[in-house]
Amino acid sequence: MDFPNYFADAESNFDDADFILFGIPFDKTSSFRHGSEKAPSAIRTASWNFETFNLRTGTDLKNLNFHDYGDLDVKTLNSIEMINNVKDFSLKLQEKKKFPIAIGGEHSISTGIVQSFPKDTAVLSLDAHLDFRQIYENNIHNHACVLRRISEHVKIRNIATIGIRSAEFEEYEEAKRLNLFFRDIFTIKKRGFSNVLKETKDYLKDMNIYFTLDIDVLDPAYAPGTSTPEPFGLDPFDILNCIDIFAPLLVGFDLVEVSPAYDHGETALLAAKIIRHVIDRVGQYKYTKK
Ligand code: MN
Ligand code: MN
Repeated sequence: MDFPNYFADAESNFDDADFILFGIPFDKTSSFRHGSEKAPSAIRTASWNFETFNLRTGTDLKNLNFHDYGDLDVKTLNSIEMINNVKDFSLKLQEKKKFPIAIGGEHSISTGIVQSFPKDTAVLSLDAHLDFRQIYENNIHNHACVLRRISEHVKIRNIATIGIRSAEFEEYEEAKRLNLFFRDIFTIKKRGFSNVLKETKDYLKDMNIYFTLDIDVLDPAYAPGTSTPEPFGLDPFDILNCIDIFAPLLVGFDLVEVSPAYDHGETALLAAKIIRHVIDRVGQYKYTKK
């Protein structure tokens, strides 16, 4: 069956919308396996599976205004051109007071969006990987370097990354030396995820928070369709709880690293559901129609 080529229920036009969804089908720097440029369309298709009513919260997406802009034209660009293109587009959204929701693409797309925000913005990252390398495969904008690049715009103090279970030794040592706030999966299992979320929220205080979700933070059993799957991950309810806690503070969101060729659609379904939950929760705090 054919579904419309936009995200389900994104029925607002651009001007009326509070949230703007946009795809960034860029997959030039994936290091293990490719295919995340197919994610925006796979996630859009998957989104038509779901009801607008949220049984868990009693709210309804019908009461929120969101628009799907389509994809940015980045496929033929190099990393720097892509980041500048994404930054320019994100700046326009901010001028118009829109809440950006970006669908990657791989993780390097987040740099451009974060660069469009003021330097005192906080960045919350959920990721299996530290992504804090100075350079990887001769590219400082490789997806393995994204938090390092982001830290050159907002301060390292403003970044928190949780769920990690993979890093290179030097990268790990550097992150500790520079006091990057990170909580690995083993700490999370020991202390409990809700305690770590609370600790992270205390750390970020009442800053405006940009949230970047690398789908590989989930266990590959739940999200196998990704570029660099890493066992021993979070489960889907952890993501819901995280969104619930941070929703009142969020100013933007991206979901990256879905690679639809490596599963039977389950990762795109989960991604679509997570995006809908972000719109629902942020919408309840900021944008519910009066
Ligand atoms: Mn990542
Ligand atoms: Mn990752």
